[in-house]
Amino acid sequence: MPRRYFAPSALLPSGWAESVLIVVGDDGVIASVAASAIDSDAERLNGPVIPGMPNLHSHAFQRAMAGLTQKAGSEGDSFWAWRELMYRFLARLTPDDVETIATELYIEMLGAGYTSVAEFHYLHHDPVGKPYANPIEMAERICAAANTAGIGLTLLPVFYAHSNFGGLAPTPGQRRFITDTDRFSRMLGALGPSLHANPMQRLGVAPHSLRAVAPEELQRVLEHGDRLDHAMPIHIHAAEQQKEVDDCIACFGIRPVQWLLDNVVMNERWCVIHATHMNETETVALAGSRAVAGLCPTTEGDLGDGLFNGKAFLAHNGRFGIGGDSHVGVDPFLELRLFEYGQRINYQQRNVFGLMRAESFGGRLYRDACSGGAQALGQRIGAIAAHHRADWIVLEESDLAIAERQGDELLDSAIFGPVRAPVRDVMVGGQWRVRDGAHARSEQSASRYRATLKRLLT
Ligand SMILES: [Zn+2]
Repeated sequence: MPRRYFAPSALLPSGWAESVLIVVGDDGVIASVAASAIDSDAERLNGPVIPGMPNLHSHAFQRAMAGLTQKAGSEGDSFWAWRELMYRFLARLTPDDVETIATELYIEMLGAGYTSVAEFHYLHHDPVGKPYANPIEMAERICAAANTAGIGLTLLPVFYAHSNFGGLAPTPGQRRFITDTDRFSRMLGALGPSLHANPMQRLGVAPHSLRAVAPEELQRVLEHGDRLDHAMPIHIHAAEQQKEVDDCIACFGIRPVQWLLDNVVMNERWCVIHATHMNETETVALAGSRAVAGLCPTTEGDLGDGLFNGKAFLAHNGRFGIGGDSHVGVDPFLELRLFEYGQRINYQQRNVFGLMRAESFGGRLYRDACSGGAQALGQRIGAIAAHHRADWIVLEESDLAIAERQGDELLDSAIFGPVRAPVRDVMVGGQWRVRDGAHARSEQSASRYRATLKRLLT
C-alpha cells in the first residue's frame, strides 16, 4: 500500500514548494510528488522537509578515537603521527567492536541528518594480518551495522598493498589492510550478491591511494570492479597532504591528481577524496571530468591537511560532496559551514563562489552537496523527487536557531547558525529511523558502545 505524506513546505529539485504531497511506494521509493496539494488523509510532516544528506567518506572505526589525538610532541601532532596512533588503535579491534562502533556512528549520523554513507572500508583482516575464516567478515559487519541503524550504504572495499609510492612494502601497522589483486577480486565477488539484493546498499570499489596502490594494480582493481558492475562507484584518496604530492612527484614526475587525470578514465563514477593540494590546471581538469571532489572539512582541519581550492573548482562547475572521514564531526551542517568558512578566510571575502544577487550561500551548499554525494554513492538519492529513494529530514521548527525562517533561510540558519543539527524526524527508504529526535535503537547501541570503549581504552 503506498503511503502518503503531506509537508507544509519542502525543498524539491525545482526549489522550495508549499503544501507538498509525497507518495512513497512499498519499495521505499518516492512514487510521486505534487506541490500545492490538498490531502487531509496523508500523514502530516511536522516541519519543513529537505533531502537527507549523503556522507560520502567514512572510516567508521575512527569514531571511537575521535578527540584522542590532540597531544603536542611526538604523538598526534602531524598527520603522519596521527596515522601511527590510529594504526595502534585499530590493531585491537575485533569484528564485534567494529560492528558496535559502526552501528553507534550510523545512528548518530541519522540523528544529524545524514541518510546514507559511503564506507571506505580497509580493515579486512585479523590483528596479525591473517584473513578471517570468512574473508568478508569485517565488510559484512559494516553492512549489518548499516542495516541495524537503517542508513543507506555504499560499501567501498579498499585495495591496499604498499606503504608508499614505488611499491614499498607495507608496514606492520598496515597488515590488517593488505591484499593482492586476486584475493581482492574474490572479496568483491563475494560481496556482490547480498549488496545487490538490498535496495539500501550498493557495492563500489576503493583503490586506497596512489601511495598504497601501484599503477598496474590500479588497472586490475578497476577491471575487477567493471566486470561486476559497469557503473560501480570508484573512490580514491588523493593529494591530502603536501608530502604525498612531493612523494608522487619524486616517483612519477607529476602530481597525484594530474597522474589520475592522465592515467585513468576520470568521469562521473569517480570520487576523489580530499583533492586538497591541486594546482590550477588540476583543479580545472578535475572539475571538467565530472568526478566528485569528496571534501571532509572537519577532518582536514583536525589533521592540518590544507584548504581545498573551492573557488576555482566551483567556478568551473566542479561537483563536490561532504564526508565525515575520521568523524571528529558528525554533522552535515557543520561540514558545510567549515568548507565555506575555509574559503572565506582564504580569500578574505564572503561571496567567494560568486553567487547571484540574493542567492543563498547555505541553500547552494546544501543542494550541491546532496547531488554530489548522491553521485558519489551511485544511488538514486539526494532529492525529493519521483524514482528517488524516500530519504528525507524533517527540520525541527521549534529549534530557535531556525524559528521563523522560510525557504533557504532555513538552510542558511541550519548551516551558519546553531551548535547542533536542527533535525526532528528522519526517513530512509520509506521507514522512519528518527522520530522526535530519537532513534529507536540509540539507548541499546550507546550502552554497547560504552562497554566497547571501556575495553579498548583501558
Ligand atoms: Zn579517508
